[in-house]
Amino acid sequence: MTEQKIVCFTLDVEDGVSIAMRDIFGKNTEQTDRVVTYTKQIIELLGKHGVTGTFFVLGEVAKKFPDLLKAIAKADHEIGVHGYHHLQFFRMTPDEAFQELTSAKKLIEDLTGSEVAGHRAPAFSITPETEWGLDVIAKAGFIYDSSIMPVRGRRYGWPGFSKDITTIPTGYGNLIEVPMSVGSVFGKEMPVCGGGYLRLFPYRFTRRMIEQILQKRPAVVYMHPYELDTEPYPDYYFEELRKTDLLTQLRMRSMWINRKTIFSKLDDLLTQSNFVPMIHLVNEYIAGVETEGSTV
Ligand SMILES: [Zn+2]
Repeated sequence: MTEQKIVCFTLDVEDGVSIAMRDIFGKNTEQTDRVVTYTKQIIELLGKHGVTGTFFVLGEVAKKFPDLLKAIAKADHEIGVHGYHHLQFFRMTPDEAFQELTSAKKLIEDLTGSEVAGHRAPAFSITPETEWGLDVIAKAGFIYDSSIMPVRGRRYGWPGFSKDITTIPTGYGNLIEVPMSVGSVFGKEMPVCGGGYLRLFPYRFTRRMIEQILQKRPAVVYMHPYELDTEPYPDYYFEELRKTDLLTQLRMRSMWINRKTIFSKLDDLLTQSNFVPMIHLVNEYIAGVETEGSTV
């Protein structure tokens, strides 16, 4: 297998209701079983296409829904960690982040009986301001991280960071970073391979962007289970939403635009590329670096 024309499908396994409740409204609520429903739909769709991907699972999800974790493992997907409580790195001290990562890693490893190699930070929150997080991720025992969006974003991003897989020396040994894919739209770099971009734009736009990225390197696609969720959220969510300002209400409601289109876009995407779990890219990268005579 060469690295050309390869796509990694990645899923951040978290519940949209409880994360919105905490991050937008400041209320702690439990993960709802919607995360199970929609993650299972994605497992089924990937299975239909014979695709294996990488599922970055939140500790809170693994704790409440251990059977879901087992279903992901049973379908041969790679399992990584997406934090325990979905705390962005800028909301934690290094000690808190270490605790967050090691507790989620241990829980997931105990439940699956397999070692976890990869980590993705909530909301791509490894940025120049939270560079210390890379040390924490290496210290927690991860081989690789996939949290850096090499663009200047409103809430995240590390402008100028490499777009290729990179070795990062840390105080706890080397960490391999698999940066998120960015595409060039009218000369501006954007995180075109997932989330709102996949939802809002026609599939042919996403396809064109992926082909553009594949000219140079493998592409990393990312999604969340809640992007398939078209059922109304629970009443307690709307009670909180009504208390917010109009701009927040509009922003939250905009997250429903085109959700109904995601499933068929994903179906098309899975038909048209060669997919591997992220650990395969990392292993190939390590083998390549070793061949060149350096050490990883
Ligand atoms: Zn997340």
